[in-house]
Amino acid sequence: MKTFTSKKTLQEYLHQLKASNKTIGFVATMGALHQGHISLIELAKQQNDIVVCSVFVNPTQFNDPKDLEKYPRTIEADTKMLEQAGCDILFNPEVNEMYDGNEQWHLNLGETEHLLEGEFRPGHYQGVTQVVNKLFNIVNPDKAYFGQKDYQQFLIISKMVDMLNMPVNLVMCPILREADGLAMSSRNIHLTPEDRQHALVLSKALNWLKDNFDKHNIPELKQEAEKMINSEPGVELDYLAIADGDTLHPATENTKSIVALVAAKVGKTRLIDNVILVHG
Ligand code: AMP
Repeated sequence: MKTFTSKKTLQEYLHQLKASNKTIGFVATMGALHQGHISLIELAKQQNDIVVCSVFVNPTQFNDPKDLEKYPRTIEADTKMLEQAGCDILFNPEVNEMYDGNEQWHLNLGETEHLLEGEFRPGHYQGVTQVVNKLFNIVNPDKAYFGQKDYQQFLIISKMVDMLNMPVNLVMCPILREADGLAMSSRNIHLTPEDRQHALVLSKALNWLKDNFDKHNIPELKQEAEKMINSEPGVELDYLAIADGDTLHPATENTKSIVALVAAKVGKTRLIDNVILVHG
């Protein structure tokens, strides 16, 4: 695997590969890699000649400086995992390689930006689109792979790609879970053994929704799932939404694509998870 820290050298290298008609698959990450990330790399490998993975903890998508500071950074272990997975290129830039001083960025992403995660993390999706736009411009991939784990992020990035007519195909990849159901996340590292047990209520509530979707109406389902989560010690619910999979507005019985999304603080760690209840 080749590692680049400079966007210019990476671009020059990719230029040569593209000149020989190689297709490029791209996976953007913030590092502290786990099997979930690796599953994206594996799919990208199957579908492209060359796989590029970025590891960059993007400061502009953090609205809480403490969260940014304590975000896990494990580049040596990440490099080994990527090598083992057969990734071809790692892009691991410093912050000043990606940002030139006080850059301004604002994209009118519509109301989806302000719902759910957007409400609890104001400005988050401006930071996400800012960095993904830069990364797409540098890598110029044929396909880019993102996890369903960050469902709303996928919708927002799709919207940006449409708005800016970016020549990239987006692929949504399934959520990888631990054997007990917990969605894999770089943030799981921060969970104490007790938190780790309490955190299971999130995937349990989502599974319950999937299993009982046909047995209750939507308000009842939402109420029951909220009750399950609220009765778990050490878990503070931010939101549990049963939403239209395209707009993230509350779903009704007539909604074509339905997804349940949850966010909660478990101890000091904020976790998100979701499940698709009705495929559109
Ligand atoms: P992150 O490093 O958390 O920004 O995640 C990088 C990419 O990996 C995003 O597209 C995530 O949605 C995806 N991802 C994170 N966790 C998982 C998981 N458990 N399963 C599949 N993909 C994931």
